[in-house]
Amino acid sequence: MVRADRVCKSFGAVKVLKGISLEVGRGQVTCLIGPSGSGKSTFLRCINHLERVDAGRLYVDGDLVGYAERGSKLYELHPRAAAKQRRDIGMVFQHFNLFPHRTVLENIIEAPILVKKLKRDEAVEKARDLLARVGLADKVDAYPAQLSGGQQQRVAIARALAMDPKLMLFDEPTSALDPELVGEVLAVMRDLADGGMTMVVVTHEMGFAREVADQLVFMDSGVVVEAGDPRQVLADPKESRTREFLSRLL
Ligand code: ADP
Ligand code: MG
Repeated sequence: MVRADRVCKSFGAVKVLKGISLEVGRGQVTCLIGPSGSGKSTFLRCINHLERVDAGRLYVDGDLVGYAERGSKLYELHPRAAAKQRRDIGMVFQHFNLFPHRTVLENIIEAPILVKKLKRDEAVEKARDLLARVGLADKVDAYPAQLSGGQQQRVAIARALAMDPKLMLFDEPTSALDPELVGEVLAVMRDLADGGMTMVVVTHEMGFAREVADQLVFMDSGVVVEAGDPRQVLADPKESRTREFLSRLL
């Protein structure tokens, strides 16, 4: 579902991604870990068209992200074509980013109606189903400020799912939550993974990585230092940088 081949990204003179190569299989869960500033968010943002890759190739479901390839030349996609690619990718951020002046229901139905041209009735029915799935059937008419952080994040997940994404990206989805609220969000993510969703998750919840992820990727300074089966990487990291990072975490 995702293939990165030597992806590079700089901001001005600062090289943030220095040749990221990794693959995420369809229906698989990849957890990304690494020190602050190592480029995890930038990598997710490249997948989701929020940043533009400078060099290397990044594919989602076989399509080059943001570009068309003819021979060895790249042409930037028309914004409409790029928007179409992006529509199939859901993203969940650390700070939920719900619209504060709209109800839970309105938050969820907006994009399906505007972008996918769903009829309002259909969008509402779908939103209700999704809210039931994340355990918030009774919060349809609530405003974000009336919800706990964990509930808001579950709404954000439902909102992303309302677009029927083929890939879900999570950028530290539980980092802003009080500890007692982390579990309910991870449970929703685990349910999603069990349902076969392809997911890339930046997280430092190692229990989740161990139990749910098919692959654990350790990034440092813009490169993939080590990747593999989470149990194996956690129990017996090959690289000293991975070992050091994990020992500080656990
Ligand atoms: P992580 O998510 O692993 O903490 P980030 O991808 O957020 O790392 O950031 C990696 C580096 O890129 C950091 O040094 C950060 O300051 C820099 N960076 C990220 N976004 C921008 C930007 N829009 N402009 C300039 N520098 C940026
Ligand atoms: Mg980050």
